[in-house]
Amino acid sequence: MTETNPTFHVLTWGCQMNEDDSEQIALFMEQAGYLATDTVADADVVLLNTCSVRRKPEDKVYSKLGELAEIKHERKRMVIAVCGCMAQAEGQEITRRAPYVDIVVGPGHSSEVPDLVRQVLDGRSNGSRKTTPRMVLDDGSTEAYSVPVRSLGRPSRLRAYVPVMYGCDRFCTYCIVPLTRGRERSRPLEDIVAEVRALAAAGTREITLLGQTVNSYGRRLSGKPGFADLLRAVCAVPGIARVRFTSPHPRGFTREVVAAMADLPQVCEHVHLPLQVADNDLLRRMKRGYTIEQYDDVLQSLRSAIPGVAVTTDLMLGFPGETERQFQNTMDYVEHARFDAAFMFAYSPRQGTKAAAMDGQISRDAKVERLNALIELQNRITTEINQALVGSEQEVLVDGPSVRDTARMTGLTRTFKTTHIEPTPGAEPDLVPKVGGLVRVAIIEGGLTGLVGTIVTDQNAHPVLRRE
Ligand code: SF4
Repeated sequence: MTETNPTFHVLTWGCQMNEDDSEQIALFMEQAGYLATDTVADADVVLLNTCSVRRKPEDKVYSKLGELAEIKHERKRMVIAVCGCMAQAEGQEITRRAPYVDIVVGPGHSSEVPDLVRQVLDGRSNGSRKTTPRMVLDDGSTEAYSVPVRSLGRPSRLRAYVPVMYGCDRFCTYCIVPLTRGRERSRPLEDIVAEVRALAAAGTREITLLGQTVNSYGRRLSGKPGFADLLRAVCAVPGIARVRFTSPHPRGFTREVVAAMADLPQVCEHVHLPLQVADNDLLRRMKRGYTIEQYDDVLQSLRSAIPGVAVTTDLMLGFPGETERQFQNTMDYVEHARFDAAFMFAYSPRQGTKAAAMDGQISRDAKVERLNALIELQNRITTEINQALVGSEQEVLVDGPSVRDTARMTGLTRTFKTTHIEPTPGAEPDLVPKVGGLVRVAIIEGGLTGLVGTIVTDQNAHPVLRRE
């Protein structure tokens, strides 16, 4: 292609897996000669990478499609593609509600997007006006979902996501993911290590291993490498200073996994341990696969094996039939568990899931009231935990200047807390934290959104680095 090559812009909703998918779509588009733009206004091709986990992101996509319809009315050549989970779940419905959509492509088919766009553009050059939308969707059978083709030509970056497994076999009764992303399948361990090596060579210091139930990695691979083996393999890659993973399932924290986490210095002291609710009847009806007692055993084993570990969670309220008493059980457990932070959501019925057909759907008002009470409780706990860190020292991987105050650098602790670093008055260049540096920071303030600190120096006034 030439400098007149078509331009594209990717819009993303949803989880880290979707963020990674969007990056892959953009890479495949660039490799095919399309040019990335910063705004929809400059784009010939708009790709919407969508999420189906709750109703709200779906509504936002339809609203965005409405805006794009107006633009496309003026710019008839614009190509609109809907990608991701909503494409897989809603397929025909999308083209019924938005007949101007040109392409619908399910997750896991990022590498096919440029070719689909080319087909639409070629069709237009040949004079064809409105054509049938091109659709690439999985048919729902186990075999239909393959491990997606990945591009390793990623740009240099400090932190990177690395998908290690796709799909989910657990079929929680409220969740659409097994229907949109298919059954569980893992990438070969050597492919993952090769990707991590390439990232490290390009300057990446922190990786996050991704999977819907990431710690069940490897179950169907020959030789059955487990998640503990995977952790050991990626931690052995020179240059990778930090390893994170999300989202694990509480049942996947075997003794080997906890031991590997405790042994490996690169594995950060942060676990996202999704709870949802703390009531055994609800957990059974959600088909979560654990009781609250079993969940608590996992939480305690992580806390005793990994000193200072921060634990975050997902909490869902308003599941069908949830009584005030059951909601209170969740509140009581949240008070007991003292999570560092939580993603808190009201249950949202997803068509095709078992829970959507259950009796006892909770009213919107009751959900809002419960959500507000839960947020208030968790916010208090998060604030207390972060305030208690005042006086401690934390390792921070420096991301760059703070968005709100460019005089401060900002980064993440190993425990996943955003930390702003106060400039040291009259500091020598050595004392100015560098992007990508690992520095020790003395915490002087803690609050709901994170920490504030100053650089710790040695007797020669040099910053103390934990690992370089
Ligand atoms: S474990 Fe449950 S909530 Fe998580 S992706 Fe699988 S089905 Fe969905």
